[in-house]
Amino acid sequence: MSRRHRKDAGFIDLTRVEFVGGGGGDGCSSFRREKFVPRGGPDGGDGGDGGSIILKVDPHLTTLIDYKYKRVVRAGRGGHGQGKDRHGKRGKDVVVRVPPGTVVRDGATGEVICDLAETDEFVIAGGGRGGRGNASFATSVNRAPRRREKGAAGEHRDVVLEMKLIADVGIVGKPNAGKSTLLRQLTRARPRVGRYPFTTVTPMLGVLPLGENSLVLADIPGLIEGAHEGKGLGHEFLRHIERTRVLLFLIDGTSPTADEDLATLIRELALHNEALAARPRTVVINKLDLLSPEEVESMRARGFEMFISALEGTGIRDLVRNLVDLAADDEGEVCDGRGKRR
Ligand code: GDP
Ligand code: MG
Repeated sequence: MSRRHRKDAGFIDLTRVEFVGGGGGDGCSSFRREKFVPRGGPDGGDGGDGGSIILKVDPHLTTLIDYKYKRVVRAGRGGHGQGKDRHGKRGKDVVVRVPPGTVVRDGATGEVICDLAETDEFVIAGGGRGGRGNASFATSVNRAPRRREKGAAGEHRDVVLEMKLIADVGIVGKPNAGKSTLLRQLTRARPRVGRYPFTTVTPMLGVLPLGENSLVLADIPGLIEGAHEGKGLGHEFLRHIERTRVLLFLIDGTSPTADEDLATLIRELALHNEALAARPRTVVINKLDLLSPEEVESMRARGFEMFISALEGTGIRDLVRNLVDLAADDEGEVCDGRGKRR
């Protein structure tokens, strides 16, 4: 994964894939054999063309994660030609669905091959032509050609699929609040978890599958005071956060200044961009496992409602329900109560 790409465009999902068009089938060399015909004419059929690989935009997709585990995609090869003028079958096309706005780059040069924001469909690797059989080479001069062609290889493309991602949920909080741990608890993402501040230097993304839909979550590097002035990692952070729909403020419950921590987060966001402070949000107290019942009670009295342990997984289910509702509201869509967005 190229850091250069990630850095200058916010959330980018990158994945490397090889696309191989199907090879064409070979042409056949054959002669008719019939009773009473001593020398039958040539009847070797042509090979079938190889199948192509077609990229197709699917508006329901939000991530390229499916291709992380499928590094090589091949289309079907064409069938070989046979005697009696039988042509080989066409190879099967393969349709690869990608999210809207996917950009396809050459894996070696980085050159843009195709931008699927501009087109819905693109043949990324054509199949090879089938070879001609000897029947195709017969002429008035040469009535018994033995010549036949081999099928051509399919196109081979080594590409990087690049997707500019809008996360549904941005997880924000001070360093060490447990953002990476929470992302790990919620999704298959495996961010580095550290016991020291600023472990996370680029936003990590994870996808939480929910039936047919999914929530894309982003763990955003720690916000520090003075972020809006461009200090430290904060500035990058604020740019990233503009691409999220819902904010999850994660507060370390063991912090003696939990209330202030929250106020600081909100203040910093508002200073940067008023609209950010107005974005749908949920406030979550983390590290419940380290809190005494009295501490929890006192925090409840101060208006905190949601408590989790990102480490142990406590309270995660309620949190997910809450996030799904928030994300659905934000899109003006209906939520059927089982976490499915329609
Ligand atoms: P980040 O800086 O916000 O990404 O925080 P990390 O996820 O890296 O976590 C910082 C530290 O807090 C790590 O040592 C985690 O193991 C710990 N931690 C995170 N969540 C919890 C929790 O719910 N309970 C406890 N006891 N520790 C946690
Ligand atoms: Mg982290």
